[in-house]
Parts: sequence; C-alpha cells; structure tokens
Amino acid sequence: DREAILRRQALRESTARTYARSLPIVPVRARGLTIEGADGRRYLDCLSGAGSLALGHNHPVVLEAVRAVLDSGAPLHVLDLATPVKDHFTTELFSTLPAGLAERARIQFCGPAGTDAVEAALKLAKAATGRSGILAFTGAYHGMTAGALGVSAGPGPLATDVGVTRLPYPYDYRCPFGVGGEQGARLAAAWAESLVTDPRGGIEPPAAMIVEPVQGEGGVIPAPDDWLRRMRRLTERHGIPLIADEVQTGVGRTGAFWAVEHSGVVPDVMVLSKAIGGSLPLAVVVYDQDLDLWPRGAHAGTFRGNQLAMAAGAATLKFVRENALAERAGQLGRRMATALRRLAAAHRCVGDVRGRGLMLGVELVDPESVLPDGTAPQPPAPALAAAVQRACLDRGLIVELGGRHDSVIRLLPPLTTTDEQAEAVLDRLADALAEAER
Ligand code: PMP
Repeated sequence: DREAILRRQALRESTARTYARSLPIVPVRARGLTIEGADGRRYLDCLSGAGSLALGHNHPVVLEAVRAVLDSGAPLHVLDLATPVKDHFTTELFSTLPAGLAERARIQFCGPAGTDAVEAALKLAKAATGRSGILAFTGAYHGMTAGALGVSAGPGPLATDVGVTRLPYPYDYRCPFGVGGEQGARLAAAWAESLVTDPRGGIEPPAAMIVEPVQGEGGVIPAPDDWLRRMRRLTERHGIPLIADEVQTGVGRTGAFWAVEHSGVVPDVMVLSKAIGGSLPLAVVVYDQDLDLWPRGAHAGTFRGNQLAMAAGAATLKFVRENALAERAGQLGRRMATALRRLAAAHRCVGDVRGRGLMLGVELVDPESVLPDGTAPQPPAPALAAAVQRACLDRGLIVELGGRHDSVIRLLPPLTTTDEQAEAVLDRLADALAEAER
C-alpha cells in the first residue's frame, strides 16, 4: 500500500531525489491531466513529467502507436540502425522545424535524456569551429551531466569547467541591471555584444552560445524577442553557432511549435528532448548541415534507437501539428496568465506572474517586506512557495517549484488541458495560496 511503498523507497533510494521528496504520492494510474494515487486520490498533474507530456498521460494516439510497434514484431533495440519507425519519426520532426533550418537540417540521435543532447550540441560546435569556450546565461539549466552542468547556473561545485562565460539573461522582475523591461533587455544585449566584439574583452572567440528561449528551471522567464534577435545577429556576425535548448519549450508548449519561432530567430543547432518522445525517453540534436564536421563516432551511446519512444514521439508531433495544439496552448496560456494576474492583485505574496503559452510561473515574495511604494522586486519566499506546493497537493493539484530561489510555482499542464480543467487548476491554486498565506 501507499505508506509501505513510500517508506521502503525512502530507505532504498538516494537522498538526491527531488520530486519524490516534495510530492509524496504513489501514482498507479493516469490519463490526460489526471493521476490516481495508490490511496485512490486523484490529482491534477501540472508537472507533466517535467514538461514532457504534451498530450498528458497515456494519450490514446500515443498508446496506439506504441502498441502498433509492439504488435508488429519490429526489433525494439537496434542501436542507431535505420528503421521504418525512425524514418517516420525523422520525417515528422523535420516537417515541424523552423523554415531556414528544416531544409538544411541534420539530426543526431542521442542518449535518452536532454542532458545527453546538450553534450552532443556542445561537442558538435567545438568540432565544427575548432574553438572551445561556450557563452551561456545566468539562471540557465541544461542538464546534469558534466558539460551540461557547466553551462547551467548550478550546482557549481559538481560541474566541470568547460570554459564557460556567463552572460546576463534578461529577467524583468529581478533585473540584473536594476531597471527591468525593455531597457534591462537592451542592457543585457549590450553586455553580450561588448564582450564578444571588444578585442580586449577577455574572452577567446567561443565555440557556441547556448540559450533557452524561455528559462524553465531558472524560474519561467521568457526571453524578450528583440533580445533573442540581437543574440542571433551577434552570433551570426561573429560566426558563433547559436544553440537553442528547446528541451522544455518545444512541441507547442509556448504557443508556437518551437519557442524560437516567436522571435523569428533560426538557430544553428536545436537541442530537443522531453515531449518529442511522447512521454518515453528520446533526445536529439538537430543542426545546420554546414556544422556536420564532427568525427565519426563523436557521439555514440547504446540507447540511441529507442523504437517505442520514436513511435510515441512521432504520434505526438503529428497530433500536436494536426490539431493546432500550439495555438491552443497560446490561447489557454494567455487566459490562465490573466487569471493568475488577478490572483496576484489579490495576494501581496505574489510578486510576479509570467510565462509563455502553457509554461507559467508565479513568483512568490515575502509580503511583510513589501516596500511602501509597492515597487518590485521583494525578497523571494521559498518557504512560502513550499507551503503553497503542499497546500496544492492537499487539494489534489501537483505543481513544481523552480527559479533562482525556489520561490516560483511552475505550471506545465498538457496542451490538451480543457477550459474546465484549467479552471479547476486555478481554483485549487487560489485556495492553496490563501491557506499558505495565512
Ligand atoms: N535543458 C532544459 C531546458 C531542460 O529544462 C532540461 C530538463 N529540465 C534539460 C535540458 C535536461 O533534460 P534531462 O532532464 O532529460 O536530462
């Protein structure tokens, strides 16, 4: 039963577990937005496999695609050999890529996780340019392997130094320059430009710039379109490959099929995982053919041919495309953001509401230290955020925390979420906020 399973796993599993510690549930069944626990309780799951469930749990088209492969007698494990399943997945994926990259794209299948595709992208850029340094951003998250950790914002001591230079990511609410808005974004761009163009800027010409079009783990911070365009122009002028990490933002989540499309930026390299596997493990790096200069075997790995994941992924990509779920995510996301802003107006502990599409963040602050003139930003409130997360769980709502200070409530509901379900999510969150604030 639930308690016994939780007790046993707490004893057996490593102390490094994160989700399991803040979400003491034992899921036994799931469909769409809903998870059912071993205790019979039902939860609305706005964690969505850390954003990987574009169609929610166990969507019929995904199950059907997986069953079709299982029933066909096709091999499930063939390393990186060509198969009809892989051919179908690749065709489907390429049909969604931004114009400008689609017709020039090459793909490398990677190990099963996003972090492995990040490693591949960094190696690819180094091989193609013959350079080694990487430009990355404050607050970034790219994964847990050494190179990916190195270009992420933390945890520092466990990362390998990959010669990373960190540039300020424009963060309106906690602007590194103390001004926010467009001006903050302009200053962030100017910093990057001066560093790259100043011959005595202190950096060697880098092998790549890696950027999230919306920072997810970093606190749900959308990159301003104009800033991203300036980063594209800068990297283009200096022959620096631009790597867009769309592991979390991809497959319609932000209101466009790929989040770079909001700005019209065409990256040289895209790192893709999570939703492209339709809830099964799959990661790829897609890049401009001109960069295809890495040596044979430069990125090997036994599990690069997961047929079930490719089938599930192809079915997901097709369903999102044919049902215009990116547009749907954009519309529903805007409505949810409006409702969250109303909530913010009613609660002094809500410092900021932001996001793009169905990637939403609510930053909680210490209401006792609100400045008399009401100006932001206030001190972050991680303990309050944890209390809201617990209160949400009590009300059958699963949310995740993130951000620089673990004080941002993150909502990543499936793109298939109905209006009624969105209402229920917002109601429960409002209740939880009211209780935790008391
Ligand atoms: N990049 C981004 C933007 C991510 O959000 C994540 C995971 N949250 C990763 C990379 C790493 O993916 P994985 O956990 O599958 O290694």
